Formats: sequence, structure tokens, C-alpha cells
Amino acid sequence: MENILKEAVESSRSVLKKGSVATYIPELAKADPEALAAAFCGTDGAMASAGDVNTSITVQSISKVASLGLALQMLGEDLIFSRVGVESSADPFNSIMRLEMKAPHRPLNPMINSGAILVLSLLPFKESGERLQAVLETMRLMTANQDLAINEAVAVSERDTSDRNRSLGYFLRSVGSMQGDVENVLDSYFRQCAIETTVKDLAVMGATLASGGRNPLSGNLIFSERVALILRALMGTCGLYDGSGDFAVRVGLPAKSGVGGGIVGSIAGRGGIATVGPALDSRGNSIGGIRVLEHLSRSMSLRVL
Ligand code: GLU
Repeated sequence: MENILKEAVESSRSVLKKGSVATYIPELAKADPEALAAAFCGTDGAMASAGDVNTSITVQSISKVASLGLALQMLGEDLIFSRVGVESSADPFNSIMRLEMKAPHRPLNPMINSGAILVLSLLPFKESGERLQAVLETMRLMTANQDLAINEAVAVSERDTSDRNRSLGYFLRSVGSMQGDVENVLDSYFRQCAIETTVKDLAVMGATLASGGRNPLSGNLIFSERVALILRALMGTCGLYDGSGDFAVRVGLPAKSGVGGGIVGSIAGRGGIATVGPALDSRGNSIGGIRVLEHLSRSMSLRVL
């Protein structure tokens, strides 16, 4: 298995020069555009990895899987999906356009920024610190890594520059789609996006979803089977934003990307597969990660879509 991963990583490195690291969050511009790594964690807990496995990245949008899972678990799918849709989006992840165009001004899905911010606002916590702690704990449980922590420099960098997410939050409140203190919700959003992980953490996260919500390393049940299924389904249709269709054709896996350069894939009953590669394509998805997953989807017969 390690050799298969190594071959996929090494043969994909040439595509990295066509991508570039995210710069709209200034601190992310410091990431190494040449880093590339892959890991697979089976539903039996067996782990294999290759490439620059010690590269750590912030999870960014991958954290939306954890916060949505937490919200579904705490509040139930009827409530969550009465406030946010489950349809894929053809627009960039932070677009405001469609939100404004059509009443009832519901975000299209929980994987785009507007949807994730709205979902966070529904969690029953008053303080942003409590809300963040609950999401961080969910990430720790999904990865079986109690040491996961926030990269405060990245969180502050996003907080100081995120006019777009602020616009989404205030717009949602102005049309009555979201209630409460927007800054309070955004504070926990920026910090959950700045949780630092490695490719192995991300592979375990995918394996937890592949095992019906049970973490194969710790044996703990994190989500119900239904919640794990919903998360995989939404990763399959919306996990790579406006690149989700292209990814489905090329790779064929439920997966979630983040602008830090991570991608988490999940193959029900089989395991989690993850890549780290901070050089991104024009849609904000890891250019090297997609190439690695395309390779592995073929060589390991991972395709489920
Ligand atoms: N924190 C990022 C933002 O809100 C997450 C986006 C992403 O990973 O795609 O812009």
C-alpha cells in the first residue's frame, strides 16, 4: 500500500507548478507549494502514508464536515435542512450572488461558506469559545488526535481580512435567515478553519465516516450511521464546491477540500483517503491532491460514484 501511495504522490508532483497557494488569507501564503502527501486509513485502523507526511496545514473548509456533523447530531436533520439546502452550487465557495437572488435566501448547501456559517449559528452555544470547543472536540474525536490545536496566526489573519465572510453573515441576518451575533459566530468559524492537522489525521477523519461514524482507532462512536451517511452524501455532491462535478468524473469519491490544501475522501466500508498539497487550482482545491486521488482511484479501485 505504501508503494502505491508513493507512486501516486511522486508521479503527481509535476502538476504542482500549475497551482498556487491561497493568498486571500495572508498567513496561508506562507505554505509550501511543493509539499505533497497522501495517507490511507482502513476501517480496520491500518494506516499507510507517503510523501511529505509531516507537513501540517489548517483544515479550513474541511472543518465544515465536523461542524455539520455536530449540528446534525445535536439538532437533527429536519431542523438543519429547514434552514440550509442540500443542492450543489456552480458558484465559488464564498459567493453571495445566488443568496441574494432568490427568496427565501437559504444557502444552497452546508459546504459553501454561507451554509457553514449559518449551520454554526444554529448550534446551541452562546459564547464563541464554547462553540469552537465543541467543533474542535468533534475534530479531535474524528481524528483520534487529542492534540489537535488552533493555529492562532492563521485564525487572526482570516479574521482581519475576511470582509467576504462578514458580508455573508450580515446578509443572512438582514434577510432573517440567521439570528444572533454575527461576529460571535464568525469568531468561532475562523478559528475552527484554523485547526492544524496532517494528512494522517485527515485519513482517520475519512475512515470514521467510512465506518458509519465510529472512529476505527479509538473505537468511539462519534456520529450515528445516518449522520455519517449524510456527511458522505454531501461530500459527494458539494465537497469540492464548483469543482464537485469535475472531481466526481475524475475521482468518483465523496470528499471535502479546504483552501489550506487538504482533501479528505471517504469510501464506505473501506476507509479514509487523504491528501495534503497547498498549491491550489482556480477553484481553491488542491491541484496535486486531486491528481493523486485520480491516480489512486484507478490503481486502488476506489471509485464509488
Ligand atoms: N476559511 C476559509 C474561508 O472562509 C475556508 C474556505 C475553504 O477552505 O474553501 O474563506
